[in-house]
Amino acid sequence: MSWRNNLRDVEPYVAGEQPKMSNLIKLNTNENPYEPGEKVKEAIQSFDPFKLRLYPDADASKLKHLIAEYHGLEDDQVFLGNGSDEVLALTFLTCFNGQNPILFPDITYSFYPVYCELFNIDYKTVALDDAFKIKKEDYFNKNGGIIFPNPNAPTGELMSVDDIEDIIKHNSESVVVIDEAYIDFGGETVIPLLKKYDNLLVIHTFSKFRSLAGSRLGVALGNKELVSHLYDVKNSFNSYPIDALAQVIGEASIKDSEVIKEHAKKIIATRERTKKALKEMGFTMTDSYSNFIFIHHDDYDAEHIFKELRKKHIIVRYFNAPRINQYLRVTIGNDEEMDAFLDAVKEIIQAS
Ligand code: PMP
Repeated sequence: MSWRNNLRDVEPYVAGEQPKMSNLIKLNTNENPYEPGEKVKEAIQSFDPFKLRLYPDADASKLKHLIAEYHGLEDDQVFLGNGSDEVLALTFLTCFNGQNPILFPDITYSFYPVYCELFNIDYKTVALDDAFKIKKEDYFNKNGGIIFPNPNAPTGELMSVDDIEDIIKHNSESVVVIDEAYIDFGGETVIPLLKKYDNLLVIHTFSKFRSLAGSRLGVALGNKELVSHLYDVKNSFNSYPIDALAQVIGEASIKDSEVIKEHAKKIIATRERTKKALKEMGFTMTDSYSNFIFIHHDDYDAEHIFKELRKKHIIVRYFNAPRINQYLRVTIGNDEEMDAFLDAVKEIIQAS
């Protein structure tokens, strides 16, 4: 059969288990434990299903405007898609078709190599340093584009705005994409740099900070020309970027921003408390600025802890690769969930 040969071996990214068991404490895909906000709830409850007969606003102009205003940008600097995964896929397709390999860290979000395989984009991974940090100097050589999350996933380590600015300055010939999926849990956004640099694209999601993973809303922020090219590519697949209900939900979420910031503060406080308790049990961990932590214990296999937690209906993510031998990534849930997690871990290591 003749079809695109390079697709035969594509291994799709697997986001993590979505088990159907009851009484589940789900700490494996970095979802937010708190509600999206009252305005979102009201928007959904008052949405008239009759409106679904009609195609949505193809421009999503109201949502675009609210997002632009929230970040101090112009409306046409905002690109919207179905979750940031779709925005990222279209970014790879639009921005990374140059002569040279694109660069991203090893380790990082594991969807990036999948897009490269799909779209035939040459890439080179760059090892993190021994402390699992991204070194800016590694991104100063000629390349066809750069992408990494800030904070990085699954480490949660943050790069400073100044260091990212250095990377952007050294790469005026290529697009630098900063995936800020987790920026609102203690990091500092690079959005102000958009005023100075045309080769920067910032990716945001409504899934984490805004508790809307189920609604699929992702954003790219950049200069008008880059954003308009993203729309050209997107509209070649589907000229209605965001469905009608997701638009209304997104608009309400922006209006809910103050309460959502309070939820993020609670998550940060729970993260720090969880880290302290795990350190007392002998775990080591990266310096996470995200809604997850990345932990390791020299005396107990992460795989064993992962399997025992699962028996107790607590789901976390297990990592085992050459550079990340026996690690767990644990999403920060609410206080009750994290207490149950900590009690379970204590029990598991005491019984080992
Ligand atoms: N970027 C990073 C770094 C992520 O971890 C995720 C979540 N898996 C995404 C983007 C995609 O999030 P979403 O598609 O839900 O917006």
